Amino acid sequence: MKYFFETYGCQMNKAESSSFEQLFLEHGWTAAEGPETADFIVINTCSVRATAESRIDGRLGFYTMLGRQRKKAGSSFTLAVVGCMAERLKDELKKQYPVVDYVIGTFQRYKFDDLITAAENGVKAGPIEEEPVYTFSEFSYEPGAFQAYVPIMHGCNNFCTYCIVPYVRGREVSRSPEAILHELDLLSAKNVREITLLGQNVNSYRWNAAASASGSAAHPTEDDIDFPVLMQMIADHLRETKSNIGWVRFMSSHPKDLSERLIDVIAKEDVFCRHIHLPVQHGSTRILAAMNRRYTREDYLAKVRMIREKLPGVSLTTDIMLGFPGETDADFEEAVTLLQEVRYEAAFMYYYNPREGTKACTMPDQISMEIKKARLARVIETQLEINRTEMAKRAGTTVKVLCECVSKDNPDELLGRTEQDEHVVFMADASLIGTFQTVQLLELTGNTFRGTLLK
Ligand code: SF4
Repeated sequence: MKYFFETYGCQMNKAESSSFEQLFLEHGWTAAEGPETADFIVINTCSVRATAESRIDGRLGFYTMLGRQRKKAGSSFTLAVVGCMAERLKDELKKQYPVVDYVIGTFQRYKFDDLITAAENGVKAGPIEEEPVYTFSEFSYEPGAFQAYVPIMHGCNNFCTYCIVPYVRGREVSRSPEAILHELDLLSAKNVREITLLGQNVNSYRWNAAASASGSAAHPTEDDIDFPVLMQMIADHLRETKSNIGWVRFMSSHPKDLSERLIDVIAKEDVFCRHIHLPVQHGSTRILAAMNRRYTREDYLAKVRMIREKLPGVSLTTDIMLGFPGETDADFEEAVTLLQEVRYEAAFMYYYNPREGTKACTMPDQISMEIKKARLARVIETQLEINRTEMAKRAGTTVKVLCECVSKDNPDELLGRTEQDEHVVFMADASLIGTFQTVQLLELTGNTFRGTLLK
């Protein structure tokens, strides 16, 4: 039997889809080339932006048609909607799209295995209860991959006023260090070379074995394993086991929770990539307060200085949002000057989109689309100029690169990624894909370096 996945949104969704895929493979299923030939289709949804939900609505229209055709032809057809939109809209989705067999919310995913068995038997599984807490999947490995995402925590307690995540993903839950280290061993055995530790806010990772065993709400204690301690455990474990994993990244970090202790661990362990994604969201303290980010512009800049001092050569990237309700021209200028001051290597820039169910959605002084677009355009122009200047300074340096794939433009070249998260193309044989190599960066073309492979 065959499965097909459509995955939207963040890396957490991609990791979850990979772990569901493992279940299908364990049952002996194979991947379909497209939805038309699949017996079981999974749509892993995203609710972060309204546009993502409208896209999924469009896809469900397509699946309504496909489901009718397949059922008329007597073919097996099961459609499951999972992820944030499934959690947010639950019964509504089912009512609006009767073609959907299962709507699996955040706290029901532990039952996925039963749904596969039911499809194999040509029946429908009964109602699925909710688990009181989020259950982590064991293994989010994509067959053949040499890079993998490893979820370490889930949910968010921060309630930024523009964000739907805490409502659809629930409160923070961390995974046990033993389960994380075990997954690293499994990935190393599959020859995975690079992992990214994932969480809605990885810096909030906190494991208390006693509290977890009793199911009680954890109050922080001195014995807890927090993110810096976990990172040290990971570095020691990879060294002791002579793991194939050579690079470790992590995301996403909330600036208020990124500690000096964490940066000290990264500084002394080469396995951690010198790249930190630190979403600032805005440069005005007044707007940061309205967003409930719980740090000021000055707090953020102080962390940037600390990181750069302790991790020479680190690359910093960010997310920044323009046009939040109440943003004045002066606030906007502070966003621009923050970019100019930090000089990020890259930034994800976007304008505020009201999200139904969040506090910011009903705030006064919403900004017109015209102004939002104009502000975004100016910020993009500023950041592109910074990118070009900062990246050009790296030309001539020698770097370690993980070879990712054959270049799209030239089959004799490989595309690789540096520790600092830059792309580089260079002449090399495809047999090097999935290995670390040393490359000298030459000139910059667009956002990609041209390089030379060094022996
Ligand atoms: S930290 Fe803020 S933006 Fe990030 S997931 Fe939590 S509420 Fe959303």
